[in-house]
Formats: sequence, structure tokens, C-alpha cells
Amino acid sequence: MTEPSIFTRILNGEIPGEILADTDRVFAVRDIDPQAPLHALVIPKTEQYRDVTELAEGDPGLLAEMVAMAKRLATEHANGEYRLIFNNGASAGQSVFHVHAHVLGDIEESKLVGF
Ligand code: 5GP
Repeated sequence: MTEPSIFTRILNGEIPGEILADTDRVFAVRDIDPQAPLHALVIPKTEQYRDVTELAEGDPGLLAEMVAMAKRLATEHANGEYRLIFNNGASAGQSVFHVHAHVLGDIEESKLVGF
């Protein structure tokens, strides 16, 4: 059997983490290395999907639940606007292969790198 992901271990209370939201199928935790005043990770409770490509193919409704949670976090913890990032594959910066979205809010303009 494969080991539970770091996110599952946070959800199960095995390692500490600040849970910001929790529904039947999705939860959110504050990132340990925040890149903005709001930097949360929105994560499906299932580990079935490695990345958003697999998730969109396998359960688009679950992906929509993640987006709804991102909006809720941005409203509750930032000014309501947010950047939503999925890293897909190691060369694109993905380090945890249990699909998750980065939700960034209240971003300083000077830190809006890239575009
Ligand atoms: P990825 O690089 O896979 O897109 O994102 C993984 C994210 O998980 C990183 O932003 C990293 O800071 C975060 N992370 C890694 N380990 C932990 C942890 O133990 N607790 C929390 N809250 N976040 C973590």
C-alpha cells in the first residue's frame, strides 16, 4: 500500500496544519510557505487524482467544488479576488502528487510575477 499523502496526514490530524475550510469532499489548509497574505491549498479528500488533468477527466464536479471553495476562501480571508494555480508535473513545480489548487489572495502588485 502507498503511504498517505502529506495532505491526507494533515486532514487526519497526524501532522499539524491550519484547516481553513472543510466540506464532504474537499478541504483547505493554509500553505506552510505562504507566497501571499492568503495562500491556501484546496484539496479533494480522495487521493485518486494526481493532478488537475486527471481530476477534470474523472470528476469535473469535484473540480467545480474546489473552485467554489477557492472563491469562498478569497471572500472570507482576502478581498474576494484570487489567483488559482495548479502545478502539473515535477517540471512545472508540482511536489505533492495528490491534486491541489493554490489559492492566492491580497497579492501585492509587485509580486504578480509572470503576467
Ligand atoms: P506543489 O509544489 O505540489 O504545487 O505544492 C505543494 C505545496 O504544499 C507547497 O506550496 C508547500 O509549501 C506545501 N506544503 C508542503 N508540505 C506542507 C505541510 O506540511 N503543511 C502545509 N500546510 N503545506 C505544505
